[in-house]
Amino acid sequence: MQTNFTASQLADPAAAESESILRRCVHCGFCTATCPTYLTLGNELDSPRGRIYLIKDMLENDRPADESVVTHLDRCLSCLSCATTCPSGVDYMHLIDHARAHIEKSYRRPLMDRVIRGLLVSILPHPKRFRMALKLARVGRPFRMVAKRFPALKPIAAMLELAPRRVTPLSPYSLPQTHQAQGTKRGRVAILTGCAQPVLDPAINAAAIRLLTRFGIEVVVPDREGCCGALVHHMGREELALKSARANVDAWFREIETKGLDAIIITASGCGTTIKDYGHMLRHDPEYAARAATVSALARDVTEYLPTLALPTLPPKGIAVAYHSACSMQHGQKISSAPKHLLSAAGYTVRDPKEGHLCCGSAGTYNILQSDIASKLKLRKVANLEATKADIIATGNIGCIAHIGSSTSMQILHTVELLDWAYGGKRPDKLHPR
Ligand code: SF4
Ligand code: SF4
Repeated sequence: MQTNFTASQLADPAAAESESILRRCVHCGFCTATCPTYLTLGNELDSPRGRIYLIKDMLENDRPADESVVTHLDRCLSCLSCATTCPSGVDYMHLIDHARAHIEKSYRRPLMDRVIRGLLVSILPHPKRFRMALKLARVGRPFRMVAKRFPALKPIAAMLELAPRRVTPLSPYSLPQTHQAQGTKRGRVAILTGCAQPVLDPAINAAAIRLLTRFGIEVVVPDREGCCGALVHHMGREELALKSARANVDAWFREIETKGLDAIIITASGCGTTIKDYGHMLRHDPEYAARAATVSALARDVTEYLPTLALPTLPPKGIAVAYHSACSMQHGQKISSAPKHLLSAAGYTVRDPKEGHLCCGSAGTYNILQSDIASKLKLRKVANLEATKADIIATGNIGCIAHIGSSTSMQILHTVELLDWAYGGKRPDKLHPR
């Protein structure tokens, strides 16, 4: 694609990067065929190619974002299906990140949108506040149908809908400590606790820690580690995202420089995509660039790390598992087969749902801020998962678990919970009684 940025515009590294991304696009439109919002809405401006044109026009002309641009870019899930499909290697992720930051700086959103976004930014990345909000949501839940009737209140209705009926107690596995390896020690890793997952489903990290320690890995939950920054990053809050990234780099470096780390394990693929991008996000920060790059190089999804431990192959268990690959797993981190191989080796029969490349609509805060589209995508995903007639759904991202789980009677678990069970852990409590 031809671009016309001026030399002074290109002096800004973010603009220069966006220009080089834009130049790779050859307008072929292959990406439209796999874009969930284009498939749902049928509007070229809600396709990757349409959005690329909108971003080019806005950035090249130094134009503040307007309502139309914001509407179409807000509808983007950041699922990165387009980046997987694109034959020209267009780095859509960093382009939309730049565009979102530009929107935040140049566009004043309507009052209610600002209030809702402000609430999400000030609550979700903080586990204590998030837990409190979930408790309050139980009181507000009966009013969700009323809120749904007013367009400006739809995000509130979506939040109430998504809030679990029971708030899980704080798990000791979420607290800073070192979990010793069993038997001969084979390695040492840190595990990300994060923000929403320890509140919504602490059993996931508990299963990962049990499984890793059982196979000889020492697991540390570092002190002062927190939200990875993905939630605010996708909302264009660049500085807040960088603040989270710096805090986590500091936390992990205290471990790297004292007892050493072989890997930083992540059990939420949305967080993994962002942590693997810390090196890029902090590349212009002289104090953090090198350490952030080291952290990104050490970051591993748990299903990426487990194959290095050569877990034994187990006999068939007679349990069919439909594997839902989160977008951040398959498109963001390009991890496709490892989770399925692990499940098969652990004795599960793995089934692939149709349209596995399409997003379920969860996408961070998307299912709150764009609840109508998210709902359509969720029902499409649920229909494909239920058509597999599997006993259980497995996936690697807490957002997908909460979102898909709200519309199906199928049991949905994190892949690592099934692996822990197969390799000597207890039967997950959340499974229906036999
Ligand atoms: S990230 Fe997903 S929703 Fe956004 S343009 Fe690409 S395919 Fe479409
Ligand atoms: S597939 Fe790639 S090159 Fe083709 S229009 Fe989409 S982003 Fe551009």
